[in-house]
Amino acid sequence: MRCFNHKEKDAVGICKVCNKALCIDCANIYKNVVICNESCNNVYDVELYEKKIGNNVNKVALFAQKSIAVFLLILGLLSTLYSILLFISIQENSDFWGIVFLILGLPILSLGFALLLFVIKQRK
Ligand SMILES: [Zn+2]
Ligand SMILES: [Zn+2]
Repeated sequence: MRCFNHKEKDAVGICKVCNKALCIDCANIYKNVVICNESCNNVYDVELYEKKIGNNVNKVALFAQKSIAVFLLILGLLSTLYSILLFISIQENSDFWGIVFLILGLPILSLGFALLLFVIKQRK
């Protein structure tokens, strides 16, 4: 492979931004990657910056999802436990409310569990 600028010279690297082949004179090492010139440096800086921002956004989203998952798990667990208490109770209508809380609690519990699994999967 020949240098993009010097057809007579062999290329030693490829610009990370524009993918041009570069000879030893044209290739610059910039932040541990091969870059061809000033404008490609700037493009690479923008790319790095956007990557960083993207990572932060992902972290915030992941944290929010995790919080919601934990909240749903606790809510579902409490509701389910409360329904069991109501089933045990001998008060009037307690069985009815027990069923209501069970119907509410179990889907919330499974939703929270599913979301938590989703968050754990995303992390890998
Ligand atoms: Zn370049
Ligand atoms: Zn060259």
